[in-house]
Amino acid sequence: MAQLTFLGSCREIGRSGFYLEVKDESFLVDYGTKFTNPPTYPDMPSSDNLQGVAITHAHLDHSGGIPRILAQDEAISLFCTPATRDLCIPLIRDMYKISKGRLPFTNNDIARIHRQCQPTAYEQTTPIGRNFEMTLFNAGHIPGSAMVSIRYNGKRILFTGDFNNIESRLNPGARKNLPKHDIVVSESTYARRLNPNREEIEEAMVQSVIETVERGGIALIPAFAIGRSQEIMCILEKYDIPMKYPIYVDGMARKVNEVVVKHPEYISSPQSFERAVKRAHVVHDNRDRQNAIRKPGIIIAPAGMLKGGASHLYFKMLYDDPKNSIILVSFQIPGTPGAELMSRRKAVVGNREFNVEAQVMYHHLSSHADSRGLVDVLQNIPGDPEFYLVHGESESCDALAAKLEKKGKTAHIPEINQTFEV
Ligand SMILES: [Zn+2]
Repeated sequence: MAQLTFLGSCREIGRSGFYLEVKDESFLVDYGTKFTNPPTYPDMPSSDNLQGVAITHAHLDHSGGIPRILAQDEAISLFCTPATRDLCIPLIRDMYKISKGRLPFTNNDIARIHRQCQPTAYEQTTPIGRNFEMTLFNAGHIPGSAMVSIRYNGKRILFTGDFNNIESRLNPGARKNLPKHDIVVSESTYARRLNPNREEIEEAMVQSVIETVERGGIALIPAFAIGRSQEIMCILEKYDIPMKYPIYVDGMARKVNEVVVKHPEYISSPQSFERAVKRAHVVHDNRDRQNAIRKPGIIIAPAGMLKGGASHLYFKMLYDDPKNSIILVSFQIPGTPGAELMSRRKAVVGNREFNVEAQVMYHHLSSHADSRGLVDVLQNIPGDPEFYLVHGESESCDALAAKLEKKGKTAHIPEINQTFEV
């Protein structure tokens, strides 16, 4: 038997952490941040006999606490794709800076990610300790994202991480035809939502951009630094936005672009991405920002929900002109400036409330499977696995459990720090 403890991501999105113990050895999958101020982390699992830690992908709610785990012992190895390794380092450094060091690890510990990493390719099987064997499968969520499959005691458990079964302009979809598993720990983010056809959303978004620049305005697209910013660049490239309208990229997205260019094997069309990168102007400083707002053009700047980052700087420069547009391209969590903007055209940015005159548009490009995609992927995993549902609001976990049970499957919704025999 083995014990699986859910350290976080239970009926919530944030602080993923799954601790698997087999005989006298253990293995950890994900150790991420909960987005409080300062960020908080799952309870620290025992590092005695910890054989290693795997991260599904670079988003901070999965990777943000990894330096704390690696700092316990130089001998603890990190397993992830090279793209995940290179993407999570700048993100964690940035979080460290913003938190002014109020984190349970030091800036030096972040360098351990590089030192202690055993980069692992998709489909490659790695023996770990005496009891585990690990394989990563493409999860289709962001560049480098993986599902983590672990074999122990003749059984096989799959941690899906965040996944998308649909191909986007940036990411190939998640691996089709997953092998047989006995246990599956799955995300449930959009278990209550159906995403419209992706091409229709792309076209509508491009339409919003074109209308804005043609009336002499500037289109600000606040977008997540990893994944969404690059996808927007690829969409604009694909739809041939006239060259007279410059495209600017600012904030953490700049660094991410450099990493993604170095790892072309993780994206669907490296040529198209390279063209998009060549076309875009990188913004270095405030002088460049002033330049970017001088004539009609497009600005891609994190954060995706207008929560800080370079998007704040542009918002303050562009909000009061009805010719401009603020084009939101991801789900806006209630309470964020992006969500306020959509519901009442007002937003508190910094400490000030702004009445927004610019147009506000919303085109939701999801990087998660929707309810149909989740059920499709999960019910087709051979071996009649038992499901454990995490990484979703409470109602989403319930909804996915009900859908799977209807298909004759067994689904559990773990509570925080609950342990199961698996
Ligand atoms: Zn994610």
